[in-house]
Amino acid sequence: MKREELIADDRRYLWRPYTSSEDHERKDPLVVVDAEGPWLIDADGRRYLDGSGAWWCNNLGHAHPRLQRAIHEQADRWMHCSLAGTTHEPAVRLAKELVAIAPEGLERVFYSDNGSTSVEVALKIAFQYWQQNGERKRRYFLSLPGAYHGDTIGTMSVGAIDAFSGVFSPLLFETLRPEEPPAEQGFEGVIAQIEALLESRGHEIAAVIVEPLVQGAAGMRMYTPAQLRRIDAARKAAGTLLICDEVFTGFGRTGSFWASEQASVAPDLLCTAKGLSGGALPFAATLASARLYDGFRGGKNRALMHGHTFCGNPLGAAVCLEVLAIYRDERILEGIAPRSEAIAATTARLEALAGVRRSRSLGMVAAVDLGEGGYLGELGWRVHDEARTLGAQLRPLGDTVYIVPPLNIPLEDLDRLLEILERSIATVVGSK
Ligand SMILES: *Cc1c(COP(=O)(O)O)cnc(C)c1O
Repeated sequence: MKREELIADDRRYLWRPYTSSEDHERKDPLVVVDAEGPWLIDADGRRYLDGSGAWWCNNLGHAHPRLQRAIHEQADRWMHCSLAGTTHEPAVRLAKELVAIAPEGLERVFYSDNGSTSVEVALKIAFQYWQQNGERKRRYFLSLPGAYHGDTIGTMSVGAIDAFSGVFSPLLFETLRPEEPPAEQGFEGVIAQIEALLESRGHEIAAVIVEPLVQGAAGMRMYTPAQLRRIDAARKAAGTLLICDEVFTGFGRTGSFWASEQASVAPDLLCTAKGLSGGALPFAATLASARLYDGFRGGKNRALMHGHTFCGNPLGAAVCLEVLAIYRDERILEGIAPRSEAIAATTARLEALAGVRRSRSLGMVAAVDLGEGGYLGELGWRVHDEARTLGAQLRPLGDTVYIVPPLNIPLEDLDRLLEILERSIATVVGSK
């Protein structure tokens, strides 16, 4: 199919995610015909560095030969059977390996197929746990301002990004949440409000849910391990559960395997997706403590009545097992230090540009705020257009531009990506 024909049919038949009809009709998408490592290759053979990591999940580069082989080998056997009444080696082995690398105390694995469902499962486990273990008053969740946990009704209820979920507010359940502090005040005000809420209403709270260290969709906002530890200490004092949504931050994105490790925080529930499958297939898991699993012991009336057709899908599980093997064999985490230094040096330099409000980095995440327009701001999109002409594909969060490249991006490609980021930003906001 020719590029023009394909774009015409895309406009005619697709309903694209997070895309206004105006943009769908007006802006030309990149037509990807191939991809390898950190590169996307378009219909004209042009190569673009994939700065948004296939929407934050491509941790090992595109078309990793070992992941391709793992999928082939499993597909040659069989592709799917359920985890209800049947079981299979890929799902069982993966659960065992995930428990071995999970933060202390997480001993059970519940599978689903995307980040949102992994969070839904965590919310349902936490809620039902208290309902059937004598603390029925614990029916609220506490989340952070700017929280993003997915796009289903339950995850939007604990989320707090008005541009995404505002219209649905009549459908959402009530969630406790500190007020958004002024941008310049940082995260300290939030922590103080969380401590106060847990002190006054802790006995009504089923769980505190956080994106540890980096609030992705809020604009790659960052807070410190010490601040995460304070949230953890306050929730422990209130006797409530902690859910770490590591859908984005897990699998090395922030420099450690799990972001919560940097704070030595051990949650009761941990959600993982995105990098779990190396960004190759839809696959997710919710890890739970033995205490939570024990709270569901008994007959049918105490079971978790939740399951998805593709829970533990063998193709997905096989690819996740290979992802873990690649992290070990290719020493993926050890490779982050030199890369994150290069990233940090660039964000520090960008801070000096006249039009840059703030910049920050952690591990393999760099973010630059160009304005205060939030998700609906247009400045980031101007940088996107500029970067496209220079050979990089970005996906800004409104006025915030960021990069989340594969963790194993070759250093020279990373330097090129950082140079494109810097030049595009300088072109759009001008230099001092
Ligand atoms: C992306 C994301 C989700 C949702 O994952 P999907 O696979 O897109 O449903 C949930 N939580 C966080 C922190 C995310 O970044």
